[in-house]
Amino acid sequence: MCLIEVETDEGLIGYGSPSGPYPLGVLAGLIEGAITPHLLGEDPRDVERLWHKLYFGEISRNAGHRSIGLAVVSGIDIALWDLKAKALGVPVYELLGGKFHQYGVTAYASSIYWDVPPEAAAEEALRWIGHGFTALKLKVGRAQTKDVANMRAIRDAVGGEVGLLIDANQSLDRIGANALLAHAEEVGCHWLEEPLSIDDIEGHRLLREIRRTVRIATGENLYGRWSFADFVRNDAIDVLQADVSRAGGITEVRKIADLASSHHLIWNPHTFNDIITVAANLHLVTASPHPAMFEWDVTYNGLMEGLSDWRLGITDGLVQAPDGPGLGIGIDMDFVRAHPWDGRPSIGIGQGMDG
Ligand code: MG
Repeated sequence: MCLIEVETDEGLIGYGSPSGPYPLGVLAGLIEGAITPHLLGEDPRDVERLWHKLYFGEISRNAGHRSIGLAVVSGIDIALWDLKAKALGVPVYELLGGKFHQYGVTAYASSIYWDVPPEAAAEEALRWIGHGFTALKLKVGRAQTKDVANMRAIRDAVGGEVGLLIDANQSLDRIGANALLAHAEEVGCHWLEEPLSIDDIEGHRLLREIRRTVRIATGENLYGRWSFADFVRNDAIDVLQADVSRAGGITEVRKIADLASSHHLIWNPHTFNDIITVAANLHLVTASPHPAMFEWDVTYNGLMEGLSDWRLGITDGLVQAPDGPGLGIGIDMDFVRAHPWDGRPSIGIGQGMDG
């Protein structure tokens, strides 16, 4: 994880993160070499103007406008929103227009993985329901017979009311996606996520043409409003999964959510990796009229537990954005100093909520 700090002359600090397994050395080089010179001496409250200055002045020309470059801008943008809201003493969601979801937003457990046999998948699903979730996600796309067995076992175990989402992480071809979609409709899945390569817009359109009850979702690997507009223009998407810490920050993803809304589509963010990303996405979801389906990474991740004093909690299937000023999460700098990057990946997969 890359933690971004933006500090003002008054000593206020905003925090952000470009969320993804991007090479940390490249992120640091981009931030110091390409971003910082554009921000020094600026007024941090001019969030929209600074987004444009960074994107059109640097990112769209030099630094990767569809991936790591825009991810870095995302982290900076989140830090600027955090700063501005802290300066005003209000939570970010209030600056974004206020709370749409008074009692919280629906969260889903993400995810039950490929290597789990059907009985164990059903058991795991019941465990997440026991923790308070009303929806959960299953990874699919490696072996169709197994995928279908897992979907059926989970549906039989949890009953018809629980939201079941499936995610292929771009691993299917058009025929495979077509076949899986038929089973997903039979089992009553809520959405099919990243069925195909992110470059196959036409394949997504063809899937969407035949789908009756299962939504076609994608977007954790799309960056910027123009990438999402290509899918929307081609009738290739139902759920836009733009992540604020990747797709351009709060400033850009608000535009993507509006793009979805203007075409009667849904924006539900991808959220993974770290607590800053969780909080930032949750603030925007909270201030958005879209029906919420909020991703909660339930795999074990030490950066979710140790980096902040704030903990995501679930009640009756709902989660709430932090209420404090800014993003509303304190960052434990002792934890940060105790965990410098040593050049190796250090996130393990385990059973987070059960320790
Ligand atoms: Mg996914």
